[in-house]
Amino acid sequence: MRLRTRKAANRWHAALLHKCGQCGSATPSHRACRACGYYKGRQVLTVGAL
Ligand SMILES: [Zn+2]
Repeated sequence: MRLRTRKAANRWHAALLHKCGQCGSATPSHRACRACGYYKGRQVLTVGAL
């Protein structure tokens, strides 16, 4: 029972926000920035070119 409770508490760990290195907006960790499309210094999403 105790183990199950601990696992549930850790589930949302990956949803932490960090600051985009390209545009400085808050972006979920390990996700491409939704504002500029950059992730780890590379553009991985096409933004604003629709
Ligand atoms: Zn960005």
